[in-house]
Amino acid sequence: MYLVLLGPPGAGKGTQAKRLAERLALPHISTGDILRQNVKAGTDLGKQAKGIMDQGLLVGDDLVAKMLDERFNNLDIKKGFILDGYPRTLSQAKTLDEILSNKKLAVDLVVYLNASDAVIVKRLTGRLVCSKCGANFHVTNMPPKAKGICDSCQASLYQRSDDNEVTVRKRLEVYKNEVASLIEYYTKSKKLYSLNADLDPGIVLEQVIELSAKV
Ligand SMILES: [Zn+2]
Repeated sequence: MYLVLLGPPGAGKGTQAKRLAERLALPHISTGDILRQNVKAGTDLGKQAKGIMDQGLLVGDDLVAKMLDERFNNLDIKKGFILDGYPRTLSQAKTLDEILSNKKLAVDLVVYLNASDAVIVKRLTGRLVCSKCGANFHVTNMPPKAKGICDSCQASLYQRSDDNEVTVRKRLEVYKNEVASLIEYYTKSKKLYSLNADLDPGIVLEQVIELSAKV
């Protein structure tokens, strides 16, 4: 089952992707992780990416596509994957289809985690991030056991500077403009399902699993 997860920041995409990967026993693939792994391992693509990032620039679509292509050669995706954070644009969606089709694979299901602006603002402005392991907490929805301290590694938690309401609303606008063409693309190919991601993450997870069983 080749599943793509779409959703605005704060819709719970990363968390759902992780849980789905466990439940469905499929690899969780995120382009952010692939990029970091390539850089860390010092692969050719990683070195190219590092050079670009060191100049303060964003890694271009071509390079990301090459990394994905390579990642998809790994046999662990034989039965499927949970793809998170990619595609973000129509051109990336087309690239993804191309890469997969060259390997005689295709996206089966695209789930759009549709959360309302109010809920996203509440989630993101209360978010706390661990300075060491990157674990996420929330001041009201998921507070750490000890105030300001990570449950798993005991490092200090901080609030990201872009997790304030004005910036969050701006990020949402940008995302909505970007995702509109993706929604149209995947609706046309009848692969898109939109779920209400304001609901409890546990409920949303079960709904995605139900959908995936029908594919
Ligand atoms: Zn931590």
